[in-house]
Amino acid sequence: MLVSLKDLLKIAKDENFAVAAPIVFNHDSIVAAYELMEEEQAPLIFNIADRGPEYIRKMAELVRFVDKDYPKARVTLMLDHGRSYESMMAAVCNGFGAVMADYSTLSYQDNLAAVKRICEPAHAVGVSVEAELGHVGQGFEYEKTRDNTLSDPDEVVSFVKDSACDALAIAVGTSHGVYKGTPRIDFERLSKIRSLVDTPLVLHGGSGTGDDNLSKAVQLGINKVNLHTDLARSYINENKMADETKLNFFQYYMAGVNGWKEECRRYIRLFNSQNQLEKY
Ligand SMILES: [Zn+2]
Repeated sequence: MLVSLKDLLKIAKDENFAVAAPIVFNHDSIVAAYELMEEEQAPLIFNIADRGPEYIRKMAELVRFVDKDYPKARVTLMLDHGRSYESMMAAVCNGFGAVMADYSTLSYQDNLAAVKRICEPAHAVGVSVEAELGHVGQGFEYEKTRDNTLSDPDEVVSFVKDSACDALAIAVGTSHGVYKGTPRIDFERLSKIRSLVDTPLVLHGGSGTGDDNLSKAVQLGINKVNLHTDLARSYINENKMADETKLNFFQYYMAGVNGWKEECRRYIRLFNSQNQLEKY
């Protein structure tokens, strides 16, 4: 069953676990994710990349088509990193449960104004909005940019109040893609922010952050962790690349889907979200 991000994360916050939010991208990844929910009794968030309104509409139809076969699953269909008003409205109009309004590179005031602009139509039809304050950058420039755009706890308080966003992605030292350098998470900042606001908190750039760091971040109050790179690369470990040349396209592809699924399972367990479906 498709539910809003607000409803999905309320229970995660009350029960102190995090929901894994992988990018799903086609029929096989969606089916693998539904199988995982059933096998692990865990909720999931399906991140859909912003590849424009037409792609968004097709992915919504595809997810609903598969969803019918898994009545006990609880999943939020979510536009990840919404880059334009048109894309976000396409998600709102096509039954998504959430959009991420990605304006974190703008000034505080411009970010706030843009998030409020999408909150109005989204909330009118029960769609949740995730905003980002501070900016989670890219791993290849981690050492250069890590300290520049961490979330300011005082700004977080006023931002969630004035924007009415339903979840907030915060920058506490994680990064998108592959880290160049060692991840350093500012747990003190995370705890401070958690103590100041009730809004569920989101960690982008979960891949490569390390199990100990992620586990601690969840204990301290992160309720959603975005994952992509680790899941997309996991097939490399599974096949050790040695047999690569012996695989045909279909075998190679299925190894990718299976590796993706098993890595996602590992994270579901790390975030303590297994066996939580009965609470929904
Ligand atoms: Zn992200």
